Amino acid sequence: MAKEKRIPGIGTRCVQAGYNPGKGEPRQIPIIQSTTFKYETSDQMGRLFDLEDSGYFYTRLQNPTNDHVAAKIADLEGGVAAMLTSSGQAANLFACLNICSAGDHIVSAGNIYGGTFNLIGTTLPKMGINVTFVSPDASEDEIGAAFRPETKLLFGETLSNPGVETLDIEKFARVAHSHGVPLVVDNTFPTPVLCRPIEFGADIVTHSTTKYMDGHGVAVGGALIDSGNFDWDAHADKYPCLCAPDPSYHGLIYTKAFGKGAFITKATSQLMRDLGAIQSPQNAFYLNLGLQSLHVRMARHSDSAMKVAEYLQSHPDVAWVKYPGLKDDPHHEIALKYLDGGFSGVMCVGLKGGREFDNRFMDSLKLVTIETHVADCHSCILHPASHTHRQLTAEQLRAAGIAPDLMRLSVGLEDPEDIIYDLEQALAAAHI
Ligand code: PLP
Repeated sequence: MAKEKRIPGIGTRCVQAGYNPGKGEPRQIPIIQSTTFKYETSDQMGRLFDLEDSGYFYTRLQNPTNDHVAAKIADLEGGVAAMLTSSGQAANLFACLNICSAGDHIVSAGNIYGGTFNLIGTTLPKMGINVTFVSPDASEDEIGAAFRPETKLLFGETLSNPGVETLDIEKFARVAHSHGVPLVVDNTFPTPVLCRPIEFGADIVTHSTTKYMDGHGVAVGGALIDSGNFDWDAHADKYPCLCAPDPSYHGLIYTKAFGKGAFITKATSQLMRDLGAIQSPQNAFYLNLGLQSLHVRMARHSDSAMKVAEYLQSHPDVAWVKYPGLKDDPHHEIALKYLDGGFSGVMCVGLKGGREFDNRFMDSLKLVTIETHVADCHSCILHPASHTHRQLTAEQLRAAGIAPDLMRLSVGLEDPEDIIYDLEQALAAAHI
């Protein structure tokens, strides 16, 4: 009797999805380091520019290395299509600009990463796209009250940076869909190894691949993934950008021409063409190396972070620890629902000794380094109120869930005993 066909697990897909070489072809995704691609007739080239044929012509829009890696990420997230961008910022910018223009409005969770908060809260309004920030813990009615007729998307982070608060994705999806707009979720911290937001109703997923996906701190990058589930045509009046003729492609209608591929095709053929925030093929190659071990690393990050969080929680100098894996964390139950296989490697900690004590503690760390980074193999620490988020007002800091004493600790892949030893000696040194 034939065995039922097995669907490959997430680990197998981390290693192999997106690229299936044929006979004699490179086993590893090759770097296609070429700005342009050759054609034999003028007509062949012309059809590419009318989007009548698919094919590569210029790496500002598309490159085969990028596309293999994007296909892997789409597979991991359970999406129909994906694109790589030059950074996580560009991925979130593209998610917004692909469906919003001047006069439109976004509703967003207020606890998102400071860079995205600036992008949505300061830069997009200068382009005529306004935002209302809401508490991610607000009721559906309260979140719904922020919507306007011109609202085009709802935005949130699965695990917020730096507050590590878990988003109730199903609640956000219900509110978004009841207002006829897609839910966009930044899934950077859990990665698809721990959470796949599309399974809970998210329509578009974004990533800073700079973080765990790369995982080694070598390449800045981003990704934009479409679930293919949002019915743009059912809300055609709201989304003429996808459902009405595009004059820059002779009146082509993306949803008619590309069906479920409409969102990513438009982002590629229009936004990449005009804004040019493509990831370099070299960086896409590095990203793929990271993806090939993502499942192994996320398990280790999560296990070590749990040990470190428990250690810190029991330390007399520690006022509080915020980590979704801790049973008394306010979002622990939600985290159990949405995260599968661990709680990622980032936590927040507040010490009892005040600002000077915090500084002496950070300055005394030897293995854990002070960095404007998070979520790679090296353990690192940062004080957002004086580093990444220093341009936010006290009120904005509170809205972003950032206490003045909050330190963000990213637990790397070193031996957890060594990380704990380093924290221990630095806490002792801070007393002197
Ligand atoms: N989204 C999240 C959750 C982040 O943490 C970051 C960066 O820290 C970004 C987006 C922006 O990504 P990048 O730094 O790759 O532009």
